[in-house]
Amino acid sequence: MTREITIPTTHPRYTSLMTREKIVEGYKSGLVALEGLIAHGRGECFDYLIGEQSIESAKLATEAAAAQLLISNFPVISVNGNVAALCSELLSSLYRSVKKSMLEINLFYYTKERESKISNELAKYGVSNILGTNPKNLVKIPELESNRRSVDCNGIFRADTVFVPLEDGDRTLALKKMDKNVITVDLNPLSRTSLAADITIVDNIIRVIPLLIDRIQYHEKNSNESDLMRIVKTHDNKKGLKDALFTMNKDRVDRIT
Ligand code: ATP
Ligand code: MG
Repeated sequence: MTREITIPTTHPRYTSLMTREKIVEGYKSGLVALEGLIAHGRGECFDYLIGEQSIESAKLATEAAAAQLLISNFPVISVNGNVAALCSELLSSLYRSVKKSMLEINLFYYTKERESKISNELAKYGVSNILGTNPKNLVKIPELESNRRSVDCNGIFRADTVFVPLEDGDRTLALKKMDKNVITVDLNPLSRTSLAADITIVDNIIRVIPLLIDRIQYHEKNSNESDLMRIVKTHDNKKGLKDALFTMNKDRVDRIT
């Protein structure tokens, strides 16, 4: 049975509700795992607290992420079901805007079927060379027990920087132990991923990717290697997380008058 959803464009939380529908559609079409719906709900809660907009600390982290991606020799962008359902088209634009980058599919709740659906979804937007799907190339990340142990030997395994939006904490910690530069997007500033990553963007992935592409294009034109290094070196991730948490509390308290 199909249902018709009519959300008026004038609804104050229109974008959030439409995004929720995208995740539900992604679940129905086999891109998103059932558990992915719960992860999305957790994200929505934190998004509500930041007012469903990009806060200052997130913009600063996005700036640092753009610089880090540009100075990396081999950055890999990791894709899971939620990310594919929400922003496959944007992700393919990001991949094209970072010249040396590769995309890799990495699923926590792995099935071959879901992997190929995600791969087909990315292919719709012109991405054909996707890592993580050839079993012959999979190697194990040390000290990790979930399915996400398996990464591509030509991708995440040899990457200097990994962009892992909406990531699980265990794997982020394992990637840090492998000495990778880790960039994440996570609406929860207290998640283990947020705390362990080098650069955490506390914002909704649907708002981050367009801004990230914009900053990459800006820096490509206007910044040299040492400018970019300085942006990365001066980025203080823990401060960004504290600022995000502060915004969530203070701005919401001020709203109750
Ligand atoms: P951790 O494993 O890091 O301790 P967790 O187990 O609470 O975190 P996971 O399900 O492993 O959570 O990771 C998903 C994370 O992605 C959550 O912190 C959630 O808030 C966040 N998230 C969900 N949807 C979005 C979104 N659209 N944009 C940004 N972050 C999101
Ligand atoms: Mg987790």
